Amino acid sequence: MGKLSIDQLRERVRGAVVTPDDESYDEARKVHNAMIDRRPAAVVHCANAGDVMATVDFARENGLDLAVRGGGHSVPGFGTCDGGVVADLSGMRGVRVDAAGRTARAEGGATWGDFNAATYAFGLAATGGIISTTGVGGLTLGGGIGYLARGLGLSCDNLVSADVVTADGRLVVASEEENADLFWALRGGGGNFGAVTSFEFRLSPVKDIYGGPMLFELADAPTVLRSFADHIADAPEELGGFPAFQIAPPLPFIPEDRHGDTFALIVACWSGPLDEGERAVGAFRDFAPVVAEHVGPMPYPALN
Ligand SMILES: Cc1cc2nc3c(=O)[nH]c(=O)nc-3n(C[C@H](O)[C@H](O)[C@H](O)COP(=O)(O)OP(=O)(O)OC[C@H]3O[C@@H](n4cnc5c(N)ncnc54)[C@H](O)[C@@H]3O)c2cc1C
Repeated sequence: MGKLSIDQLRERVRGAVVTPDDESYDEARKVHNAMIDRRPAAVVHCANAGDVMATVDFARENGLDLAVRGGGHSVPGFGTCDGGVVADLSGMRGVRVDAAGRTARAEGGATWGDFNAATYAFGLAATGGIISTTGVGGLTLGGGIGYLARGLGLSCDNLVSADVVTADGRLVVASEEENADLFWALRGGGGNFGAVTSFEFRLSPVKDIYGGPMLFELADAPTVLRSFADHIADAPEELGGFPAFQIAPPLPFIPEDRHGDTFALIVACWSGPLDEGERAVGAFRDFAPVVAEHVGPMPYPALN
């Protein structure tokens, strides 16, 4: 077969193919990090695995770079490129839960918000990112840490199999049993081994958690971070936490005169029995005086 032209690609795929001549081009080439300003030759809004295969073929046959965009959260902007083709999977976000088998299959462009909302209904979860808008794709392929990682392992440890379009445009299954070397590479090797059209995860029982954000004075950050590191090392595996710095948003639980100030923050997540949550999370309050907090029982997806 000869090289496909853009028009032939348009005929071959279900999703829209956006080029610099199209009005939606600027919107289509955007990624999360607004410092990234790349101009691909085409963005293909893939609708299914067939579209991904056609996009990979198109890029290969025309000698163009190919970027795969999942959730678009790559800080250096690996979900886009200059002059090449973007396979944008953000329209492929379906999540199917097999509650009896305790697995879930997420399409390659699903976010953790999509995933957690789907599995929560069954009281199940896998380790995902701390923020709902991060992509299942890039996060899992890079390893994936989150609130549940201490008990359940990294996101990639929960991966059972993946449907992958390889550079020659074939769709293959990668798992412990099939294409085991590719499966090994996908679990932490980043986005360079193929375009994953669906990820199958093992699920574990997690529904409502006890936790939320706690804000400490910035001056207490050294004590808070050191105490967190010491405490979490031996804490039960159901306890997760995310220490960070945070500019206080205008939320009702933060004193109004402190909105806009920078704080040291711990977001706590206890995924064990709810009635043990207050004791587990309360330990963080001993690190330093808490300025504001929004801690209590809540659905796991709400924390994200
Ligand atoms: C606000 C924010 C919060 C974050 N929180 C966490 C966190 O809690 N835990 C954590 O571990 N990391 C976190 N990260 C880092 C994040 O996991 C990585 O940036 C990750 O690469 C983002 O994946 P994405 O699919 O959203 O991004 P994209 O930019 O779409 O993709 C990132 C990389 O993965 C590849 N890729 C994406 N989807 C696929 C696919 N389906 N098939 C093949 N390749 C694919 C892309 O080609 C690219 O190389 C966070 C990042 C941000 C910006």
